This record gives sequence, structure tokens and C-alpha cells, in this order.
Amino acid sequence: SAPVLTIDGPSGSGKGTISALVAQRLGWHLLDSGALYRAVGYAAGVEGLDLSDVEAVTRCAQTTRIQFRAQKGAETRVIVNGHDATDELRTETAGAAASAIASVPSVRQALVSLQLGFRKAPGLVADGRDMGTVIFPDAAFKVFLTASAAERAKRRYKQLKEKGLGVTLSGLQREIEARDSRDASRAVAPLKPAADAVLVDTTGMGIDEVVAKVLAVVQP
Ligand code: C5P
Repeated sequence: SAPVLTIDGPSGSGKGTISALVAQRLGWHLLDSGALYRAVGYAAGVEGLDLSDVEAVTRCAQTTRIQFRAQKGAETRVIVNGHDATDELRTETAGAAASAIASVPSVRQALVSLQLGFRKAPGLVADGRDMGTVIFPDAAFKVFLTASAAERAKRRYKQLKEKGLGVTLSGLQREIEARDSRDASRAVAPLKPAADAVLVDTTGMGIDEVVAKVLAVVQP
């Protein structure tokens, strides 16, 4: 089957940006798995579900329709149950909702076949937390991106501010730390590098430098 490059790591490690650029350079498909969890968390919010109600959020994960609409030269739009939710999904509120429902095993299970379906010729770049450990354990290429907590918060802050979303650096840093520690300590698919992943610490590195490092894993 088609080759897979997994890119896992915590929020603000640069995963999203790097994965999109590397997929473009390779001409491969892209899976933004975080967007799936964000979409389910968002849909649950729209329905007014209690995020700790396992049955309700599982049903939500099983029934939410998620479409990615690629656009030439612009960012891919994410359509949730027919509504363009791209802007809402970017917020840290959506990130926190995603992290909450992502700790439910049956929610993760509901999203497995959808994710496997992204594996198509000529190849796939899969961005997430468990791409190399759970979803594509047989991937030929695996990268784990990290960066210092301070740098990750700064990057997310810059991203959100550019989108005109009102946030403070200290508040964002606290929220990101809480989300990361929940992602790392959960029982199912905890955030951790696959045993065979190449670790790349992006602290202080520019985007081009990180892209080159990741491309070198696929094309040494
Ligand atoms: O990567 P992103 O910040 O969009 O992910 C949002 C949340 O979704 C993460 O904090 C994590 O809880 C969850 N997630 C996950 N597994 C993935 C991708 C995201 O649990 N593969």
C-alpha cells in the first residue's frame, strides 16, 4: 500500500505547518487528524452535549460528517455537518473540547477507518498524536516534533493573533500545558514518540530548516 510519513508531537511543535509543507513538496495526501477530534468536539458543543457523557460523545463521533475542502493557494476548509467550521476549530476552546473527547476510547475507535482511508497513492503525510504509534504503526517514515513549552505557546499565540483571535500569552500557555498533560497522561493513545520515530526538536529552528530535516527522513 501507499507509503506513509507520520508526524506526531504536542501542540505548537510546528506539526500542522510542517506537515502541510512536506505533503506539498512530496505531492502526497495530508491527514490533519487533530481537525477530526476538533470537529467532533465542536459538533458536540453545537448539540449541547455533556463532554463527559461517553455514550453521547461516541454517538456524536460516529455520526458527525467531516469534509476537507482543499483550496488552491489557501488553507483547507473543514466542513462539519455541512457548516464551514474552519475558524471555530482553530480556537483553544475547540482544542480543549477535542482533547476532552479524544480521551474516550470509543470516540478514537469511531475515527479509525476514516483516518485509514486517507492512505492513498502516491503517499500520505499524517499529522497527529498517535499516527506513528496507533493508526499507522507500519509507516515507513516516522517523525516526532518537539519544542520547548515556552516556544510552543509563543507560536500558537502568534498564529491565533494573526487570525484576530483575542488571547493572552500567559493564559494560552496555561491552557496548552493543561491540554498537553492530559494528552500525555490519558490511558488510550497517550502522546509519545513511536519507538522508531526520528525526534526533531524545533526550538529556535526556522520553518525551512524543519521542512528540510523532515524531508531528509523520507529522501535521505
Ligand atoms: O493537533 P491539534 O491541536 O489540532 O489536536 C487537538 C487535540 O486532539 C489534541 O490536543 C489531542 O487531544 C487530540 N488529538 C488526538 N490524536 C490525534 C490528533 C489530535 O488525540 N491524532
